[in-house]
Amino acid sequence: MNTERIRVYKFGGASVKDAAAFRNLSRIIQHQDDGSRLLVVVSAMGKTTNALEALLGLAFRQQDFSAELEQLKAYHVQVLQELFSKQDHPAHERLEHLFDLLRTRLSEISPTDNFDWVYDQTVSFGELFSATILHYFLAEQDVYNSLIDSRKYIQTDNNWREGKVDWAWTERLVRRDVPQLLQQGLVVTQGFLGGTNNGHTTTLGREGSDFSAAIFAFCLDASEMVIWKDVAGLLNADPKHFPDTVRYPEISYQETVEMAYYGASVIHPKTIKPLANKKIPLYVKSFLDPEGEGTKICDCRFEVQAPAYIIKENQCLVSFGVKDFTFISEKNLGTIFNALSELRIKINLMQNSAISFSICTDYNPERLERLMQTLQDQFVIHYNTQLQLYTVKNYNAESIKRIQEGKEVLLEQRTRTTFQIVCR
Ligand code: ASP
Ligand code: MG
Repeated sequence: MNTERIRVYKFGGASVKDAAAFRNLSRIIQHQDDGSRLLVVVSAMGKTTNALEALLGLAFRQQDFSAELEQLKAYHVQVLQELFSKQDHPAHERLEHLFDLLRTRLSEISPTDNFDWVYDQTVSFGELFSATILHYFLAEQDVYNSLIDSRKYIQTDNNWREGKVDWAWTERLVRRDVPQLLQQGLVVTQGFLGGTNNGHTTTLGREGSDFSAAIFAFCLDASEMVIWKDVAGLLNADPKHFPDTVRYPEISYQETVEMAYYGASVIHPKTIKPLANKKIPLYVKSFLDPEGEGTKICDCRFEVQAPAYIIKENQCLVSFGVKDFTFISEKNLGTIFNALSELRIKINLMQNSAISFSICTDYNPERLERLMQTLQDQFVIHYNTQLQLYTVKNYNAESIKRIQEGKEVLLEQRTRTTFQIVCR
């Protein structure tokens, strides 16, 4: 195994959203010249994954998708044209080929296909496009780099759209090839994607590129990982909702995992564990201010951090009552939990009272409908939608007042460190 320092950089969609962003990314990469080896994991350009999901929706409903596909292609071709002056640059041909493959795949979709499987085989193209462009662009800038296909390294089961990683196998494959390639220069690969042992593509869940980078960092015993974002680091709230955010200069793995769990969208929740297991520090930095300090997430401990505000939108509060006015029993709870687990309904918060049991969950009409069908014979079920779940970690009196102001609170819960309300 390579004993030199290896860094893993992850660049999200915003950092490759147009030609200027690619140029900026290349400057950041060329700036790090302390002799470390570098592996770069890249997301799909801008909002490409959403566009691919929309295309898939059309194709699955057997509707015409050609205009939308052309639009997505034009977006990528435009970036290529700005990055490469030569019309016959091999990047053009390569991208053309990938778009042909995508078109073929989409036109082969039948409404009887397993949707989640088709999703992985088509929505995965976003990262294939962006990594290809990055590979050729860096080469054009005289940054020697090899492009590897992450589907051949990150091995998963066939739990489509949320592939479960086979760590031992993945580690063996990564260690077999990647250190050697890193000796020769930079390595570029796609985020979000994995592969099964029989050659199917899987994806790791939306925003999963952070996780991909952490998998590579783990397997390579990296000395650090950096997530490059359009914010200054890990903030205590989303600046879209709170005007006066503060950046955490340093924060523990534990705190970060909890924030991700409560819904902070800054880092994919699965990212931390592999890094924490090997004590690999994770930096969150701004690609708009690469010299800025950012946030260091590591194996550290702090007494009290500034309160963190986390909002989950589009929540649904479901309450189950017993029909005969007896109390909610453990047996009743068992029945409810079984149904939730079968339907993959995730509980964001729950509360029990004498005659009813309530859960707050992301609103998913189909799953809710099936839950009602399963349980309505045994329980009186009520639900409210269009709610928000507010969480304040490390709360104080002032922060509680702040989030409650002007809200109708349907449910409230607090522990020693965390205060939560479901409200509208
Ligand atoms: N492109 C994928 C998404 O938008 C994965 C990622 O960006 O992390 O969800
Ligand atoms: Mg993305």
